[in-house]
Amino acid sequence: MAKPIEDTSRLCVHTMTTKPLSLGEAIDAYQQKDINAMTVWRQHVEPLGVKESAKLLKESGMNVVSLCRGGFFPATSGTGREQARTENRQIIDEAAELGAPVVVLVCGADPDIDLATARQHIADGIHAIEPHAKACGVKLAIEPLHPMYADTRSAICTMDQANNLITVLESDYIGIAVDVYHVWWDHFLRAEIMRAQDKIFAFHVCDWRVPTRDLLNDRGLMGTGCIDIPEIRGWVEKAGFDGFIEVEIFSDELWASDQEKYLRRIRNAYLRHV
Ligand code: ZN
Repeated sequence: MAKPIEDTSRLCVHTMTTKPLSLGEAIDAYQQKDINAMTVWRQHVEPLGVKESAKLLKESGMNVVSLCRGGFFPATSGTGREQARTENRQIIDEAAELGAPVVVLVCGADPDIDLATARQHIADGIHAIEPHAKACGVKLAIEPLHPMYADTRSAICTMDQANNLITVLESDYIGIAVDVYHVWWDHFLRAEIMRAQDKIFAFHVCDWRVPTRDLLNDRGLMGTGCIDIPEIRGWVEKAGFDGFIEVEIFSDELWASDQEKYLRRIRNAYLRHV
């Protein structure tokens, strides 16, 4: 049988993409557009609490793809690093309760810590929380971030660094989240995606606006920027990835727009430009 013409069965939207909507509003709005998967951000869980949010998600039948986000392991003091691990174990517990099989890790960086040391803090932190992730049946996806965030958000900036990290940490519970926004520019992207193989746990899409007006909150809807998303999707699928395709867009402009209409645009952009 031919694939349905408008197949949204692999489409997932991050609650941060429709930031103004509460968790309950997002569930309703997504399902009305035949979007049956979401990645949940902790700030959208917070108002109801984990228990109530879990109940709401379960009753809706929504597929929970990931919980965003854990990480931020580097710290100047040992106490700070230990606190980060404790918080990450709690985030893993939350993911298990919400039915999210993956926690996405934004690994962290600190301008007072050199990048090599920060990467060691990250490796040590993930190594320390891995047994808890395994015990809870929750996988950890390291998301390399664009190097413009190497000051305060992530010392893991390339797929090469993420692959090196998962090689050292070697666990079925540790893999990579490939986000086109962060890695599209990388000359070695195709090779590193092939190297990651079945360790690609998540695939995030949006577009790179030209020009980008804000370093954080000016991501574009797919098809409105310069990233060749279908090409990168082809690579991750060739590497073996067959999971959800997650629309993750931080955009002051799009958050200010009518979220119902915006979801229709997301659906159309997914069908045409991914
Ligand atoms: Zn992402």
